[in-house]
Amino acid sequence: MDIENKTIRIQVGENNDIDLDHLERTLTACFALHHVVPTIMLTMGTTDTFGVDRVKPVVELRDRLCERFEVAVRPHIHVDAAIGWSMIFFLDYDFAANPLAINAATLAGIERNVSRFAELRYADSFTVDFQKWGYVPYTSSLVMIKEQDDLKAMENDPEHFSYFERDIQGQTHLQSTIECSRGASDLFGAYAALNYLGVEGYRTVLAHCLQNANYFRFRLSQLGNVKLVAQENQGPSVGFKIYNSEWVQDPEAEFAFELARSSDPAYKARLQRNTDYHRSLFKGRGKVGLYTNWVEAVAHSEYDERGKYSYIAGEKAVFMNPACGREQIDAFIAHIRG
Ligand SMILES: *Cc1c(COP(=O)(O)O)cnc(C)c1O
Repeated sequence: MDIENKTIRIQVGENNDIDLDHLERTLTACFALHHVVPTIMLTMGTTDTFGVDRVKPVVELRDRLCERFEVAVRPHIHVDAAIGWSMIFFLDYDFAANPLAINAATLAGIERNVSRFAELRYADSFTVDFQKWGYVPYTSSLVMIKEQDDLKAMENDPEHFSYFERDIQGQTHLQSTIECSRGASDLFGAYAALNYLGVEGYRTVLAHCLQNANYFRFRLSQLGNVKLVAQENQGPSVGFKIYNSEWVQDPEAEFAFELARSSDPAYKARLQRNTDYHRSLFKGRGKVGLYTNWVEAVAHSEYDERGKYSYIAGEKAVFMNPACGREQIDAFIAHIRG
């Protein structure tokens, strides 16, 4: 695939989820021009901001437009749930009784997520990265496909795989995949890990991580010179920007200024100054309490008239380590306070 030239980016809204109106306009334009649209890619749980796309309205839109434009082969709807898949473990959690005694802020966040993740069932396929929030090695990932027949699109002529005897041509995985010697042990690794934790055990670990993330958000918000990015999106990652309180009295207002993308040199200079300040703190302070990362795109600006946007850099902490607790978070906060 020619990713650069054949991919159409759909805009996202305030919560980093897909703008359904923009998707409708774009898909309508593609079908009107008889462009083939093989796939619509959604994301449930973006890596740093945990935006969660809706799936059901996208399926309905696809079906409606395929009918209207008489498109015979409907675009396959794939959901990237690489990081978000863990949320499906809360689909049947008893939110009223709350048997795990999850704190109120985290419980509300999980419940909001769950109402969206319930729509994963409408996807034609989705990705699971067990190696991230599933505590298993890198190789344990999965693509789950709803309709077995969809795999036919990946079928190869058995003649291309003449390595083994003719009799087994067309009967094996050799027909569908390029590699001949890949085992299933990585998938068993994921199965074993999850089985060992059990549903309740795994939920407990997830809730602990999310509570840590919320505690960290709370501690950061007390500092007065920090802007939390996509605070409402309750995933394991917490993105933030630290401002110089001598220049910036109101981090919310300063961040709003940064979001309003402008070609004015004064805008660029101010954004750069803020970024340089935070970056130098990050570089200079070392790793105490938490091992945070610098990311070039912790947020993106608003769209301009031409639909262009730019990235805003910042820092993030990802709470997936079950051994992390308030002690480490407090140590980090004490350290950045200096
Ligand atoms: C990590 C991640 C990816 C990349 O997955 P790999 O398995 O590392 O290739 C894709 N999408 C999301 C949302 C991710 O968090």
